[in-house]
Amino acid sequence: MNNLISRRNFGLLAGLSSVSAAAAVNGFISSAQAQTISAQRSTLMSIANKAGTSHTFVTHNDGRVTIHLLDAPSGLIIVDSGDAGEYSEEVVAMAKSLGKDIAGVILSHDHPDHTGGLNSYKGLPIFTSQGILGNIKNGPFKKPENVDEIQALDADEMTMAGLTLKIHNYKNAEAKEQIVIEIPEMSTAIVQDLVYNNCYMFPGMDRTNWITILEELNTKLDAENILVGHGYPSSRGELTAAVDYLNEYQQLISESADADDLVKKYKARYPNLMGEGLLGLQKFAFN
Ligand SMILES: [Zn+2]
Repeated sequence: MNNLISRRNFGLLAGLSSVSAAAAVNGFISSAQAQTISAQRSTLMSIANKAGTSHTFVTHNDGRVTIHLLDAPSGLIIVDSGDAGEYSEEVVAMAKSLGKDIAGVILSHDHPDHTGGLNSYKGLPIFTSQGILGNIKNGPFKKPENVDEIQALDADEMTMAGLTLKIHNYKNAEAKEQIVIEIPEMSTAIVQDLVYNNCYMFPGMDRTNWITILEELNTKLDAENILVGHGYPSSRGELTAAVDYLNEYQQLISESADADDLVKKYKARYPNLMGEGLLGLQKFAFN
């Protein structure tokens, strides 16, 4: 199943509408669900296996940020909110169409492109790590109105909506702190911004450490499906591709005099990546 959405084919799927892209991968999105998401602001890609289905919304904004909706055995799980309510509301609408309770929302890190739509989740149980919660509350980004509804996860392994979730905590990679959610029963890992799939990258905090983390994840994750923070879902090989990409990106940064020079070289090296909005953040490579 996941081979259908490998790098080789993503260009083909990217050209389809949200409904047909989902159907191409999944083959069973009902017309009722299709109507719910007809006013699309995201491309929807779904991967099914016997324990559940992951629905990934890749927003049509400049950053191509993702929100994931997991249709699990006894409820739904949402990961992240996109950068504005127009995207998270699309996810909530689809959740309603599935007719199951939302067991929880999990935030992967504190960056505003992943927490900016959080108001759409008012009244739902929202979780993240203690460290990320501190960064959301005390960090430099605009705080969501419902910031006080966010609860700290108190364990690295838990059951939610009938699935076992393993939470891996990382520091100083793409973000100050971020979590990876491993779901062995779905053979899925939600690595979010540790992987940019065919998108321009945010330079992050410590790219050498970031590479080390990706190599560690590649040895320990029990997952064939890799759900990323920017761009389309992929298969396990994406972890290796991400290391290669980060090494090349590091090289480009080291050869660039400043942000403008980097953007010029970056676009020349990768003229066809998605997420042009991320080119505006290249100045952070020189902090
Ligand atoms: Zn991001």
